[in-house]
Amino acid sequence: MREALVAADVGASKTLVALAMVEPTGWAWLGSARRFTTPGNPHDLVAMITQAARDMAEDQSTFIGAAVAIPGPVDRDRGILVHLANLGWRDVPFATMLSDSLGAPVSLDDDARLGAVGEWASAAGQGCRSLAFVTVSSGIGCGLILDGNPWPGSHGLAGEFGHIVVDDRGPRCGCGNRGCIEAYAGGFALARAARRSWPNVRLADGSRSPRTPAELFRMARRGDHVAARIVDNAANALAIGLAAIAAVADPDLIVVGGSVALGQRRWLRTVAARSRARCLSQTGKAMRVMAAGLDHRSALAGAAELAAKRARLATTGTE
Ligand SMILES: [Zn+2]
Repeated sequence: MREALVAADVGASKTLVALAMVEPTGWAWLGSARRFTTPGNPHDLVAMITQAARDMAEDQSTFIGAAVAIPGPVDRDRGILVHLANLGWRDVPFATMLSDSLGAPVSLDDDARLGAVGEWASAAGQGCRSLAFVTVSSGIGCGLILDGNPWPGSHGLAGEFGHIVVDDRGPRCGCGNRGCIEAYAGGFALARAARRSWPNVRLADGSRSPRTPAELFRMARRGDHVAARIVDNAANALAIGLAAIAAVADPDLIVVGGSVALGQRRWLRTVAARSRARCLSQTGKAMRVMAAGLDHRSALAGAAELAAKRARLATTGTE
């Protein structure tokens, strides 16, 4: 019987689940990840993660631990999912629910923080002392590694980067404020801007209106002025945010991942150039921005890292 770890990355739209095996120097993936649409309630999500893990294990593995990346604030000590605005979930004891279902201890953490851990441990950020991982997907978050340690903040709330206000007269954000970075550059905001700009499903030339951020970026690249303005505003908001990270934390590296940003390399270069231009000259020169090395698996790798660490701690009493 193999001993396996379950890693899950819950997105507002999609959830990824993968198995990893503990090795003497870390962990290694067992096969490829499963991906499914995130269901509308947490009970179904528990059932779907458990089913995916059991399918992948094919009865040859026993689960010794699990960790789940959550796209919103979590109470890590009590394993509670505090608030998922995009799904309308509040105060869900998700770690206990999943632990009962899997028969193994479960840890929760913020997806951006686990993304930072994943990139720092096994990809773009290896060897860095400090790193910021910005995830641009349906929402926007940031995980920090400071002096070699993940930084959750005094109240577990560090990294609410998407809700930095860049224009207090800007569009309304899901958090209730106006003009947050997320209200310009988050996937939901981009889709909303597209729906407002093209209220009919078909444009005059017969082409479809953009329904996803990726389609919106494609239209902008093809020269559509309205699409170009929307993605340009998103680049500006994100650039202001990255410059703020550099000014406050001066990290070795800022890694950008998340489903909206991945695949938009040219747009990301624009964001990086604009953020450098907004920094003080020395900060701008020192600022390194790069795309996530693990593609869509940054947070999943961070979850595996967390689950492995907890399993080692339970076995040996040391980290
Ligand atoms: Zn906000």
